Parts: sequence; structure tokens; C-alpha cells
Amino acid sequence: MRIVIVGAGIAGLTLAAALARAGRRCVIVEQAQDFSPVGSGIRLAPNATRLLTALGLGPALTAASSRPLRRDILRWDDGRLLHSTPLGGEAEKRYGAPLLTLLRSDLHRILLDAVPEGTVLPGRYITDVLENSDEVTLRCSDGREFHGDVAVGADGVHSSLRALLRPERHRSSGQAVYRGVVPAERRLGAEAEPRIRIWVGADRNFTDYPVSGGRLSFSATLPSTPPGSGAWTTEGRIAALGSAFTDWDPRLLEEVPEADWVGLWELSEHDPVPAWTTGRVVLVGDAAHPMLPYFAQGADQAVEDAMVLAEFLRHADALSAGRALAGYAEARRERTERIHALGRRALRAFTPRAEGAPEDRPALLGDLERAESEWIFGHDAGADAARRARRLHRPG
Ligand code: FAD
Repeated sequence: MRIVIVGAGIAGLTLAAALARAGRRCVIVEQAQDFSPVGSGIRLAPNATRLLTALGLGPALTAASSRPLRRDILRWDDGRLLHSTPLGGEAEKRYGAPLLTLLRSDLHRILLDAVPEGTVLPGRYITDVLENSDEVTLRCSDGREFHGDVAVGADGVHSSLRALLRPERHRSSGQAVYRGVVPAERRLGAEAEPRIRIWVGADRNFTDYPVSGGRLSFSATLPSTPPGSGAWTTEGRIAALGSAFTDWDPRLLEEVPEADWVGLWELSEHDPVPAWTTGRVVLVGDAAHPMLPYFAQGADQAVEDAMVLAEFLRHADALSAGRALAGYAEARRERTERIHALGRRALRAFTPRAEGAPEDRPALLGDLERAESEWIFGHDAGADAARRARRLHRPG
């Protein structure tokens, strides 16, 4: 069966690695000419590390990551501890897999190394998709075409394939996120104990955690403002963060100016995507469920999608592909919509119009994640997919 994946991001590469392990070939068409994915860190939760370990990537991930011992929620102004969740060995015992923090670029490299050479075709931007009952054709901006029995849209939050399948409905969330990395040599007062720290204020929050090589990754979510001229450079963004977090805990104000790179993303709020498949085309990762980042589950859900789709495709052929894609979409929709809804609930709590006193809001993220972590972190998408795929492909 011919499988064409659009996008060599986290979902696309995980899918290709899982297909290769199952003896299936595919190609990935990627718009970027070379792979220098944005810096900054990423938190991989047990629901994703469990699956990546099953792909044989456990040792590489361990070598490239930090293993925070706990996640602390702190008061915005004086950094007083409001709530602490044990991670490290305790979380690993509880969920059967570790929670890791690492650079996004390290994760990308590990996934690239896990796919057979020649799988990724760089420098090709997909502009059109044409589907009929026999095959799907993907056309690139340079006119080149790729034909497949199945096309997978793993092309991220601004997915062209999703837009081509049906018109988009999304709006600004009113919030933006700044992300940056502080090099090891410039980390001031580095702590001996690795932990995730989240300072929560009434309408903004700031998170940091260690990644490989003693570096520190941070992200700040805050109401978006019209971009000034300084917003295009790291220096300008550092200055903007300095103004946005005046009066906050001095530790974070000392840390931000040391960053050697800061990125800025406007956060869009999307409705759940109504259809993930049209027969031969299917969506995975951010393309299928663009979600707000409050639960840091975007990459984890991309990994879950990829592993589940690989399981369904493992047994399929060109004739039964449509059924396999529908089975995958059914297996994933409810779970991702629930996490999508949680992100929206968190967003509501951080807007100026939020209900409740501002001083009650800091605990909200902690409360929500504590209440939800069992089913989010404890889920084994691989075992679930194997059960469902067996049922789907059972003869008779
Ligand atoms: P992506 O990884 O975005 O990959 C999409 C790929 O498709 C890209 O390589 C792109 O170049 C390619 N592409 C797009 N359009 C086309 C086209 N038309 N033709 C060909 N190729 C195309 N999530 C977490 O779970 N935890 C975190 O801590 C976290 N931190 C983050 C930090 C940063 C800096 C960023 C940017 C995101 C973070 N996220 C985090 C979100 C997470 O990275 C995404 O949810 C995840 O990358 C989704 O994977 P994906 O494969 O769906 O999309």
C-alpha cells in the first residue's frame, strides 16, 4: 500500500517510525528544506514516553532529556509554593513511564534517526489534494505530484490538508505565548533539583524547566498585544516580557534577559475539527486537533495519534484503507476532544472577564491537571489501538 505523509513534524515522523517497525513503507513530503526546528523545550508526558519507548527510543530520549522530580505551582509575585505534584520516580511508578523535558529539536532529531533513510523528501510544499475512489494525488508548489492509496495530513496547526478538506473556523484566543531557552553558562542561581515551575497570575503564567546540557526552557502565556516593531527580534521580545512581568517574582525577571533566543506565537482558538477523514485522506496531530497549550499535550497527542494510525494501517491494504482510517478517527476523537475542552476551560480562567476572584485562579491549572492526570497520563494508546484494530480486522 502506498502511504504519503505530509509533514515531517512530531506526528509524521512518529508515524513513519511506527510503520517502518511494522514493515510498512511510506514517504514524507516536507516543506522545510533543512531541519532546524524551532528551539525551546517540550514536556513529554508518560502517555507519550510509553509509546516512544515501545518504538525503541527510550535510551535516546533518556540521554537527551531531564527528568523533573516535581511540578510546583508558585505565587506570581513572591514565588511562594502553592501546590506541588511529585513527578520523577513516583510518577513513573504510577503511570508506568517517565515524564521528560527536552529540547524540541532533540526530540525531532531522535525521531528523524528512527525513520529509514530516504523516507523524508524535503523542500516540497503541498498546495493541492485530489481524491478519487482509487487513489489520492498530492500536488506540490513546484508542480510535482505524489500518488498514494492513503494521504496523511501531519502538517501541523496551520494544516493545508485540513483547509483543503473543509473551510476553517478559528479565531484569536486573545493570548500569545513566548518561548525561549537560557544557555547553561548563563543560568543564574541554577537549582540542583530539576523541577517544572509554574508561576500563575490572574491573566498570565510563566513556566520553566531544565532540558539537556543544563539549559533552561521557559514559556510565558499572556494577553496578546498588537505587535510593536520590537516584537520581531529576540531583544524586543525580551523587553516585552520584562514589561509584561514587572513586579513578578524577581527570579523569572533575572532569567528572561539571559535567553539567547525567544519566539512568539499568537494562539488561535479552533473548534474541534468535525471530520478527520474523507476516505483516503486522514489528519493526525495538530492538523486533526489544534489545541491550546495549557495542558502541554499537543506533542503527546500527536504521538498517540501516530501510533494508533500505524496500528490500523498495519493490517490494511489499498481496498480496506478507508475502513482503517475511519477506525483510527473513531478511536481518537473522544479523547482528543476532551483534552481540547480542558484547554478552553483553562483559557477562560485567564481572560480578564473570567469568573471568580483573581486570587483563586492560580490554583486552577493545578486543580484541573490533578483531577485529569490519571486518564491523561495513564492511557495506553498502543494497547487500546491493538484491541480496536483486532476487532476491525477480525474475519467475518
Ligand atoms: P508539527 O510538529 O508542527 O509538524 C508539522 C510539519 O508539517 C512541519 O514540519 C511543517 O514544516 C510541515 N508542513 C506544514 N505544512 C506543509 C505543507 N503544506 N507541505 C509540506 N509540509 C508541511 N506540546 C506539548 O505536548 N508539550 C510542550 O511542552 C510543547 N511545547 C511546545 C514548544 C514550542 C516551541 C512549540 C512550537 C510547540 C510546543 N508544543 C508542545 C506543541 C507541539 O509542538 C505540537 O503540538 C506538535 O509539534 C504537533 O505535532 P505535529 O506533527 O502535528 O505538527
